[in-house]
Amino acid sequence: MARKFFVGGNWKCNGTTEEVKKIVTTLNEAEVPSEDVVEVVVSPPFVFLTLVKSLLRSDFHVAAQNCWVRKGGAFTGETSAEMLVNLGIPWVIIGHSERRALLNESNEFVGDKVAYAVSQGVKVIACIGETLEQRESGSTMAVVASQTKALAEKVTNWENVVLAYEPVWAIGTGKVATPAQAQEVHCELRKWLNDNVNSEIAASTRIIYGGSVNGANCNELAAQPDVDGFLVGGASLKVRDVLSFIVPLV
Ligand code: PEP
Repeated sequence: MARKFFVGGNWKCNGTTEEVKKIVTTLNEAEVPSEDVVEVVVSPPFVFLTLVKSLLRSDFHVAAQNCWVRKGGAFTGETSAEMLVNLGIPWVIIGHSERRALLNESNEFVGDKVAYAVSQGVKVIACIGETLEQRESGSTMAVVASQTKALAEKVTNWENVVLAYEPVWAIGTGKVATPAQAQEVHCELRKWLNDNVNSEIAASTRIIYGGSVNGANCNELAAQPDVDGFLVGGASLKVRDVLSFIVPLV
């Protein structure tokens, strides 16, 4: 089954109104393959979601960077999946390693959040990945399998989930995984989905790579058979780099 290439830009906690408008203008003016070929989603901080949505070309889409685990209520500082739906924000990133590490989000909590967002009709970029210590101790596959299991225990509709393999040691460090390292984990994850969910989900789920992707290394990664796109942090904020992930892929 053909999987449509997916490119996500995670702007994290960065940007001013002016900077955000500048990146959106660059994206809007770009000549890129059609949305039938590449799905492009940008994820600004919450405060800029509606601004970006109002300015961004209609073939690109917007993602929040998090949402609450259940229906809203007395949860100060949180934003619910229902609110994203209300604002017309179709995507959300859940389980980013920065939130797992800094805010102690467990596999189970991430699984609950992904399932709840999907149940409300929000599509999810679900992030998983091992630390350097885990890689060096040979437990990469066990770690990403248990993170994926926590998703699979709760998610019933995989159609609306993109799995982002983001080795923690590669995020924001400039140390990108080699194409072979990325392919090895993506292939194992697809096998895991085949064995533990089903063969259709395994064949159709996009597994994207994140971690120090930039204009110079994206082509080799994109050429791997199980790399179905990217989640890009730092380079997605650089006007110089922002299009390199989208344009050369076809
Ligand atoms: C990310 O934060 O999802 C990410 C991949 O960051 P970077 O591209 O900066 O490594």
